[in-house]
Amino acid sequence: MRVQNLVIIGSGPAGYTAAIYAGRAQLKPLVFEGFNAGGVPGGQLMTTTEVENFPGFPDGITGPQLMKQMRQQALRWGANLITDDVIKVDFRQRPFIITANEKEVQAFGVIICTGATAKRLHILGEDEFWNNGISACAICDGASPLFRHVEVAVVGGGDTAAEEALYLTKYASQVHLLVRSDQLRASKTMQNRLFAHPQIKIHWHSIPISAHGNEILQGLCLKNTLTGDISQLSVNGLFYAIGHIPNTELFKGQITLDAQGYIITEGKSTTTNISGVWAAGDVQDHHYRQAVTAAGSGCMAALEAERWLSNYGSLSILSVV
Ligand SMILES: Cc1cc2nc3c(=O)[nH]c(=O)nc-3n(C[C@H](O)[C@H](O)[C@H](O)COP(=O)(O)OP(=O)(O)OC[C@H]3O[C@@H](n4cnc5c(N)ncnc54)[C@H](O)[C@@H]3O)c2cc1C
Repeated sequence: MRVQNLVIIGSGPAGYTAAIYAGRAQLKPLVFEGFNAGGVPGGQLMTTTEVENFPGFPDGITGPQLMKQMRQQALRWGANLITDDVIKVDFRQRPFIITANEKEVQAFGVIICTGATAKRLHILGEDEFWNNGISACAICDGASPLFRHVEVAVVGGGDTAAEEALYLTKYASQVHLLVRSDQLRASKTMQNRLFAHPQIKIHWHSIPISAHGNEILQGLCLKNTLTGDISQLSVNGLFYAIGHIPNTELFKGQITLDAQGYIITEGKSTTTNISGVWAAGDVQDHHYRQAVTAAGSGCMAALEAERWLSNYGSLSILSVV
């Protein structure tokens, strides 16, 4: 079997950026773009409309168009793209073995870019108003004209929810924080900021159960988790801040993960516990979770892989391909 220099798993901003850099370094990377495990080819930005904060696009660009252009750039530099899900990896032997639904390959190096999936509540009306009032990322979408000078709601009780609620006060006239219990999991400092903010109202024991509107979101049906009472809340925005699931099931038992399942990388690098395996993007970052940071770490991983492949017998390795 032909041994690949470098296999990249995932085709979000991290995966395509790693492919562009590895392609330019003449590593002829093979990218498993995914199919439906952990998202779609192109990653999370395929599920959004306008991306207004990726540098180089002063007028914004749609998520799918941005990902199409990244893909084209990866192809231009010689990446071999396969639209398939990886279903098994074996990092215990070298070369590593990567098995997808329809193909199995051996590789000297692997960059994991399988991203994360934002949790949703799947309430009634969610699909209808997704991107038309409902979002999973306040930092990404909060500045949209849709949410300026209107009332919005944030669901969640942790630090992310607190941070997103505070961020949204820059644009929205009022932010309703919907908390399912009678306490927040956010740090004390964040809680104090929330309690003190005049534009934030906390609704304890509250969960949204349906969304309604007319093309854009106009309101929510809330359920009281204690009494079961139903009430209405007029808002034009609903932001989920209930966490993400990193797409790492595949790597359990081989790659070291943190308590939430994110891949642990060493220091400022993208190096994992296994030499020759790197991780980039949201799969190893639950802090920034932005396209540009994912792309940046994809670049880092490709540069680290290139150096590693050169240091560890580049001549013999590269001549195999
Ligand atoms: C609705 C929404 C809007 C957003 N808007 C913005 C924004 O405006 N600006 C911004 O900077 N960020 C935004 N983000 C965040 C941004 O999308 C992510 O930070 C970024 O996409 C992470 O990139 P990634 O490459 O790490 O992973 P992802 O984009 O999550 O991509 C993961 C890739 O891995 C693939 N994959 C998963 N499992 C497998 C497998 N087993 N085999 C093969 N492939 C697999 C998937 O198919 C996918 O291609 C938004 C996120 C969401 C959900």
